[in-house]
Amino acid sequence: MIGVTANPSEYPVVCEFFELFKTPWEFYRRDRPYEVLLCAGDREFPEDGAKLVLTYAGQRLPFDDEEEIEIASQGRSPRMLSYAGSRIPIYGDNITFREGIGVLVDEGSHQPAIYLHRSCGRRVARIGYDLFGEVRTLLIAGQPAANAGIPALELHIALLRDLIIASGAPLVEIPPVPDGYRFTVCLTHDVDHPSIRRHKCDHTMFGFLSRALFGSLRNLIHGRIPLRGAVANWAAALKLPFVHVGLAKDFWREFDDWYLALEKGLRSTFFMIPFKNCPGKNSHGPAPAFRAARYGAQDIADTIQKLLAAGCEVGLHGIDAWLDSSRGGEELEVIRRLTGVSEIGVRMHWLYYDQQSPRALEKAGASYDSTIGYNETVGYRAGTTQAYKPLEASRLLELPMHVMDTALFYPAHLGLSSREARTVLGRMVDDVVQFGGCLTINWHDRSIAPERLWDACYRDLVQDLKSRGAWFSTAGQAISWFRKRRSVVFETDRIEPDAVRVRAAARQGDHLPGFRLRIHKARESWEIGPRASENHLDLAFDESVDTRVPCEVSP
Ligand SMILES: [Zn+2]
Repeated sequence: MIGVTANPSEYPVVCEFFELFKTPWEFYRRDRPYEVLLCAGDREFPEDGAKLVLTYAGQRLPFDDEEEIEIASQGRSPRMLSYAGSRIPIYGDNITFREGIGVLVDEGSHQPAIYLHRSCGRRVARIGYDLFGEVRTLLIAGQPAANAGIPALELHIALLRDLIIASGAPLVEIPPVPDGYRFTVCLTHDVDHPSIRRHKCDHTMFGFLSRALFGSLRNLIHGRIPLRGAVANWAAALKLPFVHVGLAKDFWREFDDWYLALEKGLRSTFFMIPFKNCPGKNSHGPAPAFRAARYGAQDIADTIQKLLAAGCEVGLHGIDAWLDSSRGGEELEVIRRLTGVSEIGVRMHWLYYDQQSPRALEKAGASYDSTIGYNETVGYRAGTTQAYKPLEASRLLELPMHVMDTALFYPAHLGLSSREARTVLGRMVDDVVQFGGCLTINWHDRSIAPERLWDACYRDLVQDLKSRGAWFSTAGQAISWFRKRRSVVFETDRIEPDAVRVRAAARQGDHLPGFRLRIHKARESWEIGPRASENHLDLAFDESVDTRVPCEVSP
């Protein structure tokens, strides 16, 4: 059991952090003994018999003077720490130490950001930043695009886990991994342009012609697309007048058949626009006219029925729901009516979002949101691979979006070739294999048709995810699984401190995978590194499990 002391203003952040690092903990109580004490910010740690005391703060503490810990430097600006082959950006106040261990060091100065010592028979780790301040920044402001590739929040969890295990304290947790799989993946599709026939002499049509005719030539010359891709795009451009008069097939209209054929049984999620010709608002006033889609969900009601019948989910691709809860209610109602499903999730068109959006969406009646990501790059805006509850929300969960096809391939964004994109995606799959969680991918409806032709890369990605043990779920199923994990409570026995009972309060239903209770075997040596957490035992459970934690097991 971890006892936590933090400033009361950080209590919601502490609670959310321990939904992501699902392990027994509570706010410190004077009448309870703890194996591990975690003191954050400027809170002093209580005199206590804990095996391990972790003190996280980005400024000098009176404790540092008492223990004669020498501070090497103090910084405010983002600092990059190096930890076990990974990089952890620190966005708030931070300090480094004159002496310490090389496991967590400032990249620039090579000074340690962690100081370990023994004091009065216990182990003390002094870490030079404020853990919950960092978590707050990640969950509210998010990371700048430059650090998008770093799952910073997962790395904070990994470091804390390693420190606890290395101290010899027992640790159990429920990793964000569905039983029987290695991680979760949500294949999602924002449906922006389900028909090119609807685009006559507009921004989208001229953009299509320019990219199909000239962009393809440029890409062919630079070796970025094969000749057959360029020929397919030129043929599509020449065919367009015939598509418009109904003499040729609308090559953007077949997205449903194409995705159903490729994803057979993998249950993807399609986000549909509720109203046609409606650009909506941005934070300054009316949004640009070309944000308006040329269709409303009602126009493709037959496609929606086909997708639902195949086990897919249909959500709302919202227009104004992010800033106007009554408009959000109307937008959700369109999708509810067409699907007959009451719980509807949202992803905002163009990823419009601000700090009050979780509350607006919650008030509108959304069941989850999946907007938090980047337009210009891929990665972890909130630093996590897991679904989380935004600090402003009381029930709404956020399923962060990690990969969007347009960010990978558009020249104005990352502008990657297919080969480069496969490398970047492979690294992100490595991350979910390592940390668990849910990789959420957004491949647009028309991305598999001319002129994008990003189908081969998507096919390879799905194949890679299959071969690496993914649980393919709809966004709504992933959210249900995370909700159920959040409902799990740990009951520890004060008389038999090694006994632990784990119970899931929420009912599962829906044939979702179960959980694993991971029991880490404590180490005798005060040796910290990623291998510290490798020695563990997993017990599978659905509703509850009783077990004992082996406190004194050597690796
Ligand atoms: Zn969109």
